[in-house]
Amino acid sequence: MKKRVLTGIRPTGNLHLGHYFGTVQNWVNLQDEYDMYIEIADVQALTDNFDNPEKIRKNVNELTLDLLSVGLEPSKVTIFIQSMIPEIAELTIYYSNLVTMARLYRNPTVKTEIAQKKAIFGNNGESVTYGFVGYPVSQAADITCFKGECIPVGDDQLPLIEQTREIVRKFNSIYNFNMTEPNALTGKNSRIKGLDGNEKMGKSLGNAIYLVDDENTINKKIMSALTDTKKIKANDPANPEVCMVYYYHKLVNKDNLGTVCKECKSGSRGCVNCKKELINKMNEFLNPFREKRKYYENNMNEVYKIFQSGTNKAKNEASENIKEIKHAMKIDYYE
Ligand code: SF4
Repeated sequence: MKKRVLTGIRPTGNLHLGHYFGTVQNWVNLQDEYDMYIEIADVQALTDNFDNPEKIRKNVNELTLDLLSVGLEPSKVTIFIQSMIPEIAELTIYYSNLVTMARLYRNPTVKTEIAQKKAIFGNNGESVTYGFVGYPVSQAADITCFKGECIPVGDDQLPLIEQTREIVRKFNSIYNFNMTEPNALTGKNSRIKGLDGNEKMGKSLGNAIYLVDDENTINKKIMSALTDTKKIKANDPANPEVCMVYYYHKLVNKDNLGTVCKECKSGSRGCVNCKKELINKMNEFLNPFREKRKYYENNMNEVYKIFQSGTNKAKNEASENIKEIKHAMKIDYYE
């Protein structure tokens, strides 16, 4: 029996290189070894976008096209839409009694995100909603609704898994149940920097390379990427370690990395040619994704069938599991 991996992603935009190298590439590698469930977390996306449902709806399709384009195989993974499984919302309500507000506010992930919101909105956090503070509870429901055993996460998300484990332990002890505590599957921490050198690549930062970007867009973006600002003339020696072009060469041009580094340091390589080489390599890297995406864009019926069968499978699983949970809680009236 393969172990079950449960993972999710919020449909708030297209996937960029940060998502790919940080998360999704790992999912592609895991799909043969594990029984993978991938949740398109539209309800969770609404915690930040409840006043913009159009954005979420549009991005459910966009995100799924991206996921299929990178090589996730519908025959190996179960892709489902969170809002179509009401059992998750039901379980979230039951779990909400098992977590104190103080504990949620102490969760380091929640704490960081609230601090960011305060910095953005500057109103001492008064715009933070109940739904937002409670999203770790909803995540515990996401995981346990499908008996998720292994959860692929970055180090920054470990507190969320710990929160789920606490909820599971409390549930088991109160209701004399034997729910499995999920474990984190941590890989190497690969946060990808933005074109401007920012530590994080992100849509709101305007520094991302998207998997869906066409050749012209890639050309423009790479031509404007941050290089070593001390290099003025083409034949000035430079430091590749402060250059974002070299940073992306490391991702998609590994075979020629030694030469790029040596020539940059010696001054025998100009930035324009270096960028052109990266543009070619980036397009070579993205071409297989573009082709797969095109196939699915032209066959959207196939995509809807993938949603439908994944969501049906997840729904059956969730409804079986919630029956056991309600039985343990003695709220299985007339069944
Ligand atoms: Fe960056 Fe290449 Fe210019 Fe060196 S030569 S600073 S690696 S763009």
